[in-house]
Amino acid sequence: MIKKTIKTERKCDMPGCEEAGEYKAPKDRTLKSHYWFCLKHVKEYNKNWNFYQGLSAEEIEEHIQNDTTWQRPTWKLGQFKTYGTGNVKDGFGVFEDLGLGMDGKHNPPVKEIPVHSKLAEAASFLEVSFPLKVSEVKKQYKKLAKKYHPDTNQGDKEAEKMFKKLNDYYRYLLKQLGEK
Ligand SMILES: [Zn+2]
Repeated sequence: MIKKTIKTERKCDMPGCEEAGEYKAPKDRTLKSHYWFCLKHVKEYNKNWNFYQGLSAEEIEEHIQNDTTWQRPTWKLGQFKTYGTGNVKDGFGVFEDLGLGMDGKHNPPVKEIPVHSKLAEAASFLEVSFPLKVSEVKKQYKKLAKKYHPDTNQGDKEAEKMFKKLNDYYRYLLKQLGEK
């Protein structure tokens, strides 16, 4: 029943002893109160200790468990470390699933423009290529607006339709490029 504990200012409980009480010894089987002795006196106390007499091995083990759990964390450092590492690894797994892995193998997928998207249609209509440039879009718009403008087509229905389409696409492209 010798237990080395953190050094304190506590004095040995043996009357008249001035040594530091660094060793804990239970006063009785309830294990609820303890003496604090110096090494010399705890050895002496322990020598006469008959606490375990008449108890089975299981009962002794149970008492030791009960006595030790309340005075120290229930997890061991090694177990905690393993748990922590596993947790971090799982965390990265989540990032990797999202394409945000930091190992260079799981970069976010390159954003591809679907061939039949409205953006591709608009770019095709205005005859501009990717990467889109605001200046290029505006230049092409001016050129095509002149081409499809009702004034230059004598009210041609087809040209009017194209002119409307041009304006729609033009506004859409500028919006995509963050312009107004
Ligand atoms: Zn002592």
